[in-house]
Formats: sequence, C-alpha cells, structure tokens
Amino acid sequence: MSTAGRGELLRAHLFHTPRNPFRSDKGLESHADGGLLVRDGKVVACGEYGEIHAAYPEVPTTDLRGGFLLPGFVDTHIHFPQLHILGGLGRQLLDWLECVALPEEARMAEPAYACQTARAFVNALAAHGTTTALVFGAHFAGATTSLFEAAEKSGLRIVSGMVLSDRRLRPDLHQLPEDAYRESTDLIRRFHGKGRLLYAVTPRFALSASEAMLEVCQTLLRENPGVRFQTHLNENQQEIAEVAQLFPWASDYLNVYERFQFGGRGAVMAHNVHPSDSEVERLAASGTAISHCPCSNAALGSGLFPLQRHITAGVTCALGTDVGGGTGFGMLKEGLQAYLLQRLAPDGVLLSPGHLLYLATRAGAEALGLDEEIGDFGPGKAADLVYLRPPQGSPLAAVIEQTGDADRILAALFTLGGAESVREVRVEGAAVYRSPA
Ligand SMILES: [Zn+2]
Repeated sequence: MSTAGRGELLRAHLFHTPRNPFRSDKGLESHADGGLLVRDGKVVACGEYGEIHAAYPEVPTTDLRGGFLLPGFVDTHIHFPQLHILGGLGRQLLDWLECVALPEEARMAEPAYACQTARAFVNALAAHGTTTALVFGAHFAGATTSLFEAAEKSGLRIVSGMVLSDRRLRPDLHQLPEDAYRESTDLIRRFHGKGRLLYAVTPRFALSASEAMLEVCQTLLRENPGVRFQTHLNENQQEIAEVAQLFPWASDYLNVYERFQFGGRGAVMAHNVHPSDSEVERLAASGTAISHCPCSNAALGSGLFPLQRHITAGVTCALGTDVGGGTGFGMLKEGLQAYLLQRLAPDGVLLSPGHLLYLATRAGAEALGLDEEIGDFGPGKAADLVYLRPPQGSPLAAVIEQTGDADRILAALFTLGGAESVREVRVEGAAVYRSPA
C-alpha cells in the first residue's frame, strides 16, 4: 500500500476548539504530545500521539515536535483589491473610502494589475496560515475572475463575489443593476462550487446600493441556492446616519437588509460596532453571523465592538482582518487585537486563549456554514491546518521554552506569533504554503 493510502501521523503540540468556548468550559483541547492522523485529505483521529500510534502502527509518523498544529485560520472579512493600501492610517471610514480605498479599487479595471494583486493576495493569505477566507472581490467582473482563478490555483478555500454598487462611490465603480445581475450570474455559474470555491453575493453596503441593486442581490440569492452573502453593517456613526436618510422607511440599518431577505446561515455582515438591542436580537434569531474586525475598528476609529451583547444574544461572531482598513493578514494579530479592545470596552469580555482560537477558526467555519467540513480537527473534517514554529532566538521561542502550560503557550502564540512563525500550511492535507527557511 502506498504512503498516501496509509495516511500520515503528524506529531506535534496540537490545539483546537471542537466546542464553542463561549458555551462550554471544555471548548479548548490541547495535546502537548499530540497526534493528528490524516488520510486522503481528512482527519481520521486527533489526540495523544502514543494512543493513536498504538492504534495505527502501520501509519508513518512525521515528527513536527517543537512546533504547534492549529486548524487553518478562517478570515471572515477581507478585501482583495485593498492589498496595496494597507497602512493608510489617520482617517475615518467614509473619508478613508473616498481618499484611500476607492481610488485603488478603481485600478482593478486594469486586468494585469488586478491579476498581479489577486496572486499576491492569495499568497499572503496562505503565508499567514489562513486556509479559508470570505473575500470582497472587485467592482469588476474581470478582476473578480482573476481572484477566483488565483484562489483555485492556490488550493485555498475562497468564498467571494463581485462587489455591487450603483451610487455614492465614484462613477467608475458603479454598475447598472441589469449588468450586475448578468455578470454575477455568469460568475456564479463559472465558480460557485468549483473545487474549493464558493460564491457570495456582495453588495458593498446599503449606502452604495439602490433598492434596484438590492433587488438584484435578492434575485441572485433566490436563483442560486447555496451561494453565501456578505456585506457591511453598522460600522461607523456617520455611515449609519446616511443610511437612515437614504432609506427613510427602514426602522434601522439591519432592516434595510431584512427587507430584501439578506441574512440567515451563510450570511456574514462585517463590523456591527453600533447596533441597537433589537438588531442584535434579530441577527441571533435569523442565524446571521457578524465578522468582528478589531484592527480595522481601531485603525478607522469606528468604535469598540459590543461582543458581550452579541454573545449573550447568541449571535455567531468570527474574526476578520478587513484588509486594507485593518492592519494586515495575520489572524493571530487579529485575535490579540480582539483581546486588547475587549480589555478596554465598557462591557468587555475577558477572552481566554481558547476563545481567541475559536474566533479565528471554528467560529469562521460556523459563520460560513462550513462547520461540518472545517474549523477543528474532529474526525472526518478536512485536514486544513497551520504548523507554527517560532524562529530560534525569537521572544516567542524564549517564552515557550520556559512553560509547558497550554493556555500560556497559546496566549503567547497570539501575542507574539506572526507570519515568521508559520512554517507550513495545508488544505485537505496538501501543502499550500511552506516557509522558505
Ligand atoms: Zn470591509
């Protein structure tokens, strides 16, 4: 029998969150001398190395001791055309959109530039340990095609869609609703369900979409069962006030989306920094997930995310880096920032390392309706994983040498770990990234 047929037993310190730590005090599982048995791209067993090795003595071991195996990160909010504008500090949302983000998004009309950006974007995801991402495409079908093609080549799981808008941005980013319908339908036909790709209907936000455009989105969702949905919600006070003016019939921001039946499992709305109690309750009732982007919220001065209210109501919250309003691709950094902002928020949640891992992995899978397939190392799940090993001589290595405590190690990974610690990334057991060193 070939090695592939027998599988492979990975030996390292393992962490995963097979249960939601906001609901269970046994959310985090850690195995210091752990074993992860992978066969045909799927997890067969996860636990103590000695026990798994004894049960499957024929399976060869790959010794990765000295490092840490985590489920691949799931980034639930990120914009591919904004790669080149990371670091545009000093502005609030609407000003930043006009002066920094949208001029760059307009450059995606140029096919060669879009193609180059798409390749660099998927490489950056993989290099940071992200194996699944819900991505805002471009306002152009061609550039969005480039993203799907680069994603397919990379092996990553990418859920994305062309961004739809017909007002308020700049004329070269606006589409006619009938063109948006035709081009989106074509993209769905070409890419939804192709390999690891999925399509998400993506109105940019209520501010930039007329009722005719929102009706197009509703039609696309009705005609294409299984496609996901993503947009922005309640990010910034000025944005919220303008949405209220544009949709005088709506009781609040979320109500605009509800009118067009946006929401439910597989729908992800980014931010929700300033929701009413009623909005939080309705999100919970419909099963709509929120992508929490703490680096972006801080960088754009949007505000402190009311995590406790979402958790109490039962809203699924996952993490998003929001490149380029955020500060980079690192989901470990995003977890740390969530922790830091919750320390400062008036009703802040004291997040444990297990909470951070859940928010960066399994919660994202739940938000996308993919938790039967990915998000932890449960048997039968896809072997999507990131192998972290701190560089020799780094502060992270120094901390880890001095402790065997699982919570302290995981906390140190979130506090000090970045792309330099990502050694290998696999999707369905196959490498999508290996560090050059
Ligand atoms: Zn965004």
